[in-house]
Amino acid sequence: MKKIAVLTSGGDAPGMNAAVRAVVRSAIYYGAEVYGVKQGFHGLIKGQIEQMDRSSVADIIHRGGTILQTARSEEFKTEAGRKRAMYAVEMFGLDGIVVIGGDGSFKGAQKLDELGVPTIGIPGTIDNDLRYTESTIGFDTAVNTVIDAISKIRDTSSSHGRANIIEVMGRHCGDIALYAGLAGGAETIIVPEMYFDINKVCGKLVQGKNRGKLHSIIILAEGVGDRFEMGKQIEKITGIETRVTILGHIQRGGSPTAYDRILASKLGARAVQLLLEGKKARAVGIKALNVIDVSLEKAINADSSFNDEMYDLADILSI
Ligand code: ATP
Repeated sequence: MKKIAVLTSGGDAPGMNAAVRAVVRSAIYYGAEVYGVKQGFHGLIKGQIEQMDRSSVADIIHRGGTILQTARSEEFKTEAGRKRAMYAVEMFGLDGIVVIGGDGSFKGAQKLDELGVPTIGIPGTIDNDLRYTESTIGFDTAVNTVIDAISKIRDTSSSHGRANIIEVMGRHCGDIALYAGLAGGAETIIVPEMYFDINKVCGKLVQGKNRGKLHSIIILAEGVGDRFEMGKQIEKITGIETRVTILGHIQRGGSPTAYDRILASKLGARAVQLLLEGKKARAVGIKALNVIDVSLEKAINADSSFNDEMYDLADILSI
């Protein structure tokens, strides 16, 4: 009988629980023993490992966060730390580990594989910054959370005739801003991948106001300039009162959308199948509605292209 472990690592994302559930239930279905590692690689080092059964994952498919908890472990980045983790792997006789997390977690999974433990990565991050897959678990929920916030801010913005800068997560990847901006009908989307001109942003605001528009929404990915400075600049140039809302960690929580639950279920089940087929150092993902798997190497180094077409479309539709 195979012994499979599962852990969640890096930033948490809605849908991680659904992925853990899928790993546990399908492993049991295929006759494997399954273990949950608490707090990612940190817990692996500390030996925080417990056997799971089908009821360990009951009533979690709809819950945000991760029942296994997550952590960032600097120790695991060292050879000594990984040696300690290997001690736990050997103690529990683990034959394979499913790692749910972002690109950093995939690098950790790769290191474990190099030490002889087969690993499979499942993309769990709200940022959608793993380009080998069309979507990462948690991204859809985060986008929907932002859209909900946009609607609420739009209401109050309209009443007062204000402009609003809404800062969203995505320091290195503007996908949350792009998708939520397009779906939420934002006037302007500012992302790290694209150059932006504050005068163009202001010109659009003034044009809109002159046409009788009551509100203006600017979606800003975090880290692209200082949001408060930008707000002041916009007020100064346009004379339109501009407020700033930082959505922050609200984007990481909440019940996962149906899309994220289904994605997590499909990817969790496939990860287990791959391990039982004797595969290693693979990452599962989704392309054109099909579950795919690529090497961890390829997943980590996939070209970080930005969807320019979608960005242009959002610009055209917000005239
Ligand atoms: P998110 O996208 O939400 O930030 P992430 O998985 O990219 O998630 P990181 O903090 O980058 O988050 O990585 C999670 C953990 O993976 C780290 O705390 C560390 O334990 C491990 N890890 C990251 N990079 C490496 C590496 N090069 N070698 C070994 N382990 C690593």
